[in-house]
Amino acid sequence: MILPEKPLIEVTTKDCVLVWKNCLRLIRASVGEQSFKTWFEPIRPMKLHNSILTIQVPSQFFYEWLEEHYVNVLKKAIYGELGAEGKLEYSIIIDKGNEQHQPYTINISNPKNAKPVDHSPLPPQKQFFSPFDMRTAPPHQAHSNLSSQYSFDNFIEGECNRLAYSACFSVAQNPGSNAFNPLVIHGGVGLGKTHLLHALGREVKALFPEKFVLYVPSDLFITQFVDALKNQSVQEFTNYYMQVDVLLVDDIQFLAGKEKTQENFFHIFNHLHQAGKQIVMTCDIAPKDLKGLHDRLLSRFKWGLVADVQVPDYKTRLSIVRAKMQTEGIAIPNEIVEYVAKNVDTNVRELQGVLISLVAKASLMRQEIDIDMTEKTLNQIIQRVKQIEVDLNIEIIQKAVAEHFNVSLNDLKSETRKKEIANARQIAMFICQNYTNMSLKTIGEYFGGRDHSTVSHASRTVTERLENDPLYKNIVDVVKMKLNLKG
Ligand code: ADP
Ligand code: MG
Repeated sequence: MILPEKPLIEVTTKDCVLVWKNCLRLIRASVGEQSFKTWFEPIRPMKLHNSILTIQVPSQFFYEWLEEHYVNVLKKAIYGELGAEGKLEYSIIIDKGNEQHQPYTINISNPKNAKPVDHSPLPPQKQFFSPFDMRTAPPHQAHSNLSSQYSFDNFIEGECNRLAYSACFSVAQNPGSNAFNPLVIHGGVGLGKTHLLHALGREVKALFPEKFVLYVPSDLFITQFVDALKNQSVQEFTNYYMQVDVLLVDDIQFLAGKEKTQENFFHIFNHLHQAGKQIVMTCDIAPKDLKGLHDRLLSRFKWGLVADVQVPDYKTRLSIVRAKMQTEGIAIPNEIVEYVAKNVDTNVRELQGVLISLVAKASLMRQEIDIDMTEKTLNQIIQRVKQIEVDLNIEIIQKAVAEHFNVSLNDLKSETRKKEIANARQIAMFICQNYTNMSLKTIGEYFGGRDHSTVSHASRTVTERLENDPLYKNIVDVVKMKLNLKG
């Protein structure tokens, strides 16, 4: 039902902006970058009143699409921010030619597509278990943090991931007592590592409900450990992890350089391994190339199996596109499916995002999908994907450099001329200039709006120092290695 917008009696703009910002953080982590940009960035928070958050969406179609595809994600985010009382209202912009846009609201407290709210956790930290869950729940009933969207059934196997897939599958049948303990899966972003970890965990839960399975991203593990240190509850924290039967640690590259956390993880690891419990980890680079990880921990990885996932080949990409179409219930002519699979060769996340954007565009234009229209649309989208990739690169570079030199991202972009910060900033600019195809001007914009000459100066300075100072070269090489950069 569409109702005219009521006059705004009590508007708390600041709160609504903040609440929506937090929601977005949760949503972003669960929908993937492309879908996030397509479906969530255009949304504007309007007001928050009596736990009802009103968001403005650009069209009726947009609203329907959100309701159809993201209602649970939205509900979970609202639930996480506003609790059980929280509700969402849409303010839909109806385009009436030259007339002013007239906002309407639709109350979705009883939306047509609403499925029961699934309180299984989202990846972000807010809804993850607390180590002290166990005061109230026996371990096997404690929260596993597993997401129902990932399973072995909806994972497409190909040359690129066969070993990793088979190892995960085999571990799930027989956790703990197998030759793959620990199992480490490594590979680039968007290639299915997290998917496999969840699939493994869910399969174990299905086969052995009494087992305590726990998924934890390593940055969360770090946060929890630091909190435990602060609260003098390290013992409790450690004991909790030592009760796990299948421990799934995602993105262990974040443990690099975190001495104390690693030490604690090492103890937990040894305890679990000796007790015949299963440990599975993922990492964005091969563990042996991961600097800042203790040898004693690294040497443990050799006890089990290290398997990689790679960018899928054309045939696998085709299967992934077809599978995705089937689960989303969308039909696209074969030529177009092939076109997408051929042209989007970065990673699976992008592949899925492109498909969704394509369907959305076609629906928005309300046109039959013919080849001409699709190729044109796809061209634009593929270019956009490449653009996003590049944008992402600068941000990834900034993040990696900031982390490596232990400075904040804000510092990196700030005016500060403090030596360590200026040094880190120069290296970051140098890497951006040499390893992305962004212009000096654009790079400057990413660094707090500096102009192109600052970037080229920084880059030159680094180049010179690299030639004359082997120690400095060593430092830059380590940063480059963290970013998987060669040459
Ligand atoms: P990673 O953890 O390696 O960065 P993810 O596991 O988050 O990547 O995968 C990104 C997206 O691509 C997820 O939506 C995931 O379900 C999907 N995906 C990745 N690989 C496959 C695959 N082989 N089959 C089906 N979906 C996949
Ligand atoms: Mg991942």
